[in-house]
Amino acid sequence: MAQIIDGKRISKEIKDELKEKVAKLNEMGKTIALAVIQVGNDPASSVYVGNKKKACEYIGIQSLAYELPEDAKEEELLGLIDTLNKNDKVHGILVQLPLPKHMDEDKVIKAIAPEKDVDGFHPQSVGALSIGQPGFVSCTPAGVIQLLKRSNIDIEGKECVVLGRSNIVGKPMALLLLRENGTVTICHSRTSDLKEVTKRADILVVAIGKPKFIDASYVKEGATVIDVGIHRNEQNKLCGDVDFESVEKVAGAITPVPGGVGPMTIAMLMHNCVEAYEFAHNK
Ligand code: NAP
Repeated sequence: MAQIIDGKRISKEIKDELKEKVAKLNEMGKTIALAVIQVGNDPASSVYVGNKKKACEYIGIQSLAYELPEDAKEEELLGLIDTLNKNDKVHGILVQLPLPKHMDEDKVIKAIAPEKDVDGFHPQSVGALSIGQPGFVSCTPAGVIQLLKRSNIDIEGKECVVLGRSNIVGKPMALLLLRENGTVTICHSRTSDLKEVTKRADILVVAIGKPKFIDASYVKEGATVIDVGIHRNEQNKLCGDVDFESVEKVAGAITPVPGGVGPMTIAMLMHNCVEAYEFAHNK
């Protein structure tokens, strides 16, 4: 039976470490603040924003909520970001995606000051990651690295296969595994003979956005399988990109959905907020 990697426990462990760190700062009268901007009221986005607020409260980070109407002009959003960039009491800025269609997401992300880019989506953050310089790392892939490290799964020298090449998961995931000295291969929709590649993996990270796509036939005996996918099935139950029941029979370790990668994303966002504060005060 595979080891189940418990993302809920590891996420709580990280949040508790941060809470302790933040409490010490608060005792000295210092406050960390995260600005969260939501445009419109998409129900899924409202849930994500609410979860971020709760995590901030738990850790002791001040969360500042900014809500713009669905039909707000792009200049209004850019103006707000500019004001927050200049406010030295605000350490992190997060714009909840997706934005309404009339707004240019790339332009908005670029407007955030890189030293406040706690989502790690700014081109400067991505560039820093690719050339091994300090900068914010996209939260979901950073969370996967923590899951592996805190489960004592070595990355160095291992065959790591990342399934998916999106800018927010697949590409930064591959760069992070490389930074940890894994031997990394990225697969995507044009990969020929996907199984041949995934079956080589000691560590297989799956982020393709297709429910239960990966079954045991894609997995080497004893491999670690990390499932980034999140979907709701016909019964409204959560499932991942990996067919858990099938894969757990061959894997050495596996993340469940829910309770695997999901809870790590917010924990790493909180980590980035604390890092943003440290950056602002140690520069
Ligand atoms: P995405 O932007 O849709 O990217 C999917 C990637 O998978 C693409 O690179 C695509 O290849 C590749 N792909 C699609 N079908 C494939 C196939 N049949 N064979 C091989 N590769 C295939 O998705 P994403 O934003 O990275 O998200 C992936 C999953 O993670 C989704 O389920 C999403 O909901 C979930 N997610 C979870 C979290 C979390 O906090 N846990 C955070 C973000 C995302 P091409 O590039 O060739 O099209």
